[in-house]
Amino acid sequence: MTVNSRSAAPARGNAAGATPRRARGEGQWALGHREPLNANERSKKDDNPLNVRARIENIYAHRGFASIDPADLRGRFRWYGLYTQRRPGIDGGRTAVLEPEELDDEYFMLRVRIDGGQLDLAQLRAVAHVSQAYSRDTADVTDRQNVQMHWIEIENVPAIWRELEAVGLSTTEACGDSPRVILGSPLAGVAAEEVLDATPVIDEINKRYIGDPSLSNLPRKFKSSIGWLPDLPYESNDISYVGVVHPEHGPGFDLWVGGGLSTNPMLAKRLGVWVPLEEAAEVWLGVISIFRDYGYRRLRSRARLKFLMADWGPERFREVLETEYLHRKLIDGPAPELPKRPHDHIGAHKQKDGLYYVGVAPIAGRVSGTTLASLADIAEAHGSGRVRTTPYQKLIVLDVPEDRVESLIEALRGIGLEARPSSWRRSTMACTGIEFCKLAIVETKAKAAQLVEELEKRLADIDVDISVNINGCPNACARTQVGDIGLKGQLVPGPNGEMVEGFQVHLGGGLALAEGQEAGFGRKLRGLKTTSEDLVDYVERLGRRYAGARQEGE
Ligand code: SF4
Repeated sequence: MTVNSRSAAPARGNAAGATPRRARGEGQWALGHREPLNANERSKKDDNPLNVRARIENIYAHRGFASIDPADLRGRFRWYGLYTQRRPGIDGGRTAVLEPEELDDEYFMLRVRIDGGQLDLAQLRAVAHVSQAYSRDTADVTDRQNVQMHWIEIENVPAIWRELEAVGLSTTEACGDSPRVILGSPLAGVAAEEVLDATPVIDEINKRYIGDPSLSNLPRKFKSSIGWLPDLPYESNDISYVGVVHPEHGPGFDLWVGGGLSTNPMLAKRLGVWVPLEEAAEVWLGVISIFRDYGYRRLRSRARLKFLMADWGPERFREVLETEYLHRKLIDGPAPELPKRPHDHIGAHKQKDGLYYVGVAPIAGRVSGTTLASLADIAEAHGSGRVRTTPYQKLIVLDVPEDRVESLIEALRGIGLEARPSSWRRSTMACTGIEFCKLAIVETKAKAAQLVEELEKRLADIDVDISVNINGCPNACARTQVGDIGLKGQLVPGPNGEMVEGFQVHLGGGLALAEGQEAGFGRKLRGLKTTSEDLVDYVERLGRRYAGARQEGE
């Protein structure tokens, strides 16, 4: 293979269409650009980020926070799910102007990856215990099915790893420019509509490739979503598999590549191929390898796979995947069929084996170690041994006998986990926000709780199902662009002209989760802003107006 056959985006002509300009180097390894072009790339080249684990165990955990090399602290620690949390009391107006060390607290956020969102009770209890013992009882279910904790001290990290790893959990590559947690359908293996359970693919990728040093220096993060049911936000991942039945070859997966939200949102593109279950891990490896080799490493703001996809297009991406990485042709495949209604993760629903799953809605994913420990006890007392996290910040108890469902719902209600929530409680998500996140401009989790509790009172008489995605900054961790109401945290003019916490509002975004739905980003109009203070009133007005003006069936 010659390097020329792996050429980058075609050079574009100048405005007059005369002499073509030379394509600017984007730092693509496959084109011979091995010299780091920014500080992050240099740090990764200086030392494989996975090597930081030994330093944490052998040095930093013994000598304390002050002993940590800044390049590890603000760089390589992420490969083990560790970020310094925001020093309390720093307002959002100072986020962009302070130096990183001024924002750093001496405590960490720790992200535990829960691939496929699947937990048995021993795992759930281990997460609960780590939260209670080491993180001041904090625990948030994230919209990528992880659990995040706060207030972690470096001295306790090795003990936490031992406890999590004893039950098969890990924090490896939970953050960083690496293959992050793999989203899986929360109903994998139990939904009546599922033809093929994708869990073996998630397990195989996890076993073979997570923590593999050859995949730990990617241009940026790499997000995967693998499930038969389209009940995941599959269009906003770097790679997604969605189940499809091929007319000749039977059940397999449709492959999507190059989605991502953040500041330049793009939806993933179908490559038009059908991938059987047993080849899905190999094809995943091909896609992530293209990202590693051809991904742009010059600017971090242009490094996600979506930018390469935008330049190449799905046809070229497929061709490179087939010819250079798989060395064979893939089978053409049909698009997946969407269900008549989106799959419901909340409430009690019958599984294919006759047992029931019961989904509950903590507000914006906020729980605690104590709640998770009680959840494990309650699940066990009702005959269940499995719990799932969802990419909508919810929790599901599986395998409940029909005659125990009502008792389970009551018991969960007693610990604040509601199986029959209002539509606001069901459909509101929030990212970490200013409480702990160093990039945040505004507060989010407490705002979500206030919003839900108020709207439950104010709009109790109105039946509307409106999703609200609250984000503390433009990074869109809680998927700003695909909520009915997407809120992007920023400073906005207050009543007296001073700048205060508020949100840019995006309206009408959504993903294609059922027939007739089309994925699209919410409309962002210049004047569509609200202060945090006014948010509840603002959403109430929107809810009332929508309820009054909606069409039949909307
Ligand atoms: Fe932090 Fe911004 Fe992500 Fe929220 S959206 S968690 S504030 S980076």
